[in-house]
Amino acid sequence: MSQERRYSFEFFPTKTEAGHEKLMGVARQLAGYNPDFFSCTYGAGGSTRDRTLNTVLQLESEVKVAAAPHLSCVGDTKADLRALIGEYQAAGIKRIVALRGDLPSGMGMASGELRYASDLVEFIRQESGDHFHLEVAAYPEMHPQAQNFEADLANFVHKVKAGADSAITQYFFNADSYFYFVERVQKMGVDIPVVPGIMPITNYSKLARFSDACGAELPRWIRKQLEAYGDDTASIQAFGEDVITRMCEQLLQGGAPGLHFYTLNQAEPSLAIWNNLKLPR
Ligand code: FAD
Repeated sequence: MSQERRYSFEFFPTKTEAGHEKLMGVARQLAGYNPDFFSCTYGAGGSTRDRTLNTVLQLESEVKVAAAPHLSCVGDTKADLRALIGEYQAAGIKRIVALRGDLPSGMGMASGELRYASDLVEFIRQESGDHFHLEVAAYPEMHPQAQNFEADLANFVHKVKAGADSAITQYFFNADSYFYFVERVQKMGVDIPVVPGIMPITNYSKLARFSDACGAELPRWIRKQLEAYGDDTASIQAFGEDVITRMCEQLLQGGAPGLHFYTLNQAEPSLAIWNNLKLPR
């Protein structure tokens, strides 16, 4: 695994002009910390196609930080994906986060011509060779729909071998799950960086809902503590900052090749952790 550390911040494209202006303000603030790149999520099935594209282009041209669009294949045709990949390539975008995606419930699962993220990675390589640095998703606590942990590891290895350059994990609150995952996939021949995805804790009910949906375990001791704080957001944030800072220290001391922050379009929670860790600016 590469020893070079990299730091990145993830955003989601907003629906309103006001939300977009706020996002650009947050991005300008975070740009002052010299991240390696920003990324911007994509609504599976193409629901945010134009907003993701425009946000990424604006982050690059106005905020002057390299930006990576997320791109998912479920629910999109090859023709749609080819056109979008071509637009990104023509605009000089150099990195894509390649995913399967999750269609909103009721829209079916297997629609689209490419079924898994590994198919999308192969497709992007066929269409654009080595132009893009391709990131893929990793699940230290297992993807929620995986048959079992071993099958999920094998599928991850297959996805990496299809042409991924690095991976970003789903968030987790248990550093051991990350170290175990990395050790196992390294033994299976994976030598790309697997960067931990970091979710700052700022709001208990939202976090509990998100975690149930994406299969991230919220450990009992964290859940109980957050529940006990009730509406006391200042205490929730102080506790969350402490817990996540300690986990990041453990990850970096244990050799993690960087950190990727799920900002939810807010600067302060990620920056508090960044500053506690005294990361380079
Ligand atoms: P895959 O790698 O295709 O895996 C999906 C499931 O299929 C797994 O259970 C895997 O074990 C299984 N599988 C894989 N290959 C095979 C095979 N050949 N045979 C049988 N089973 C197989 N979602 C969005 O919609 N938009 C986003 O912008 C977005 N950004 C994300 C960013 C990160 C860093 C992460 C970690 C997730 C993100 N997601 C996003 C969520 C992601 O789309 C979902 O978790 C989705 O359910 C799986 O995507 P994947 O790329 O991991 O899929």
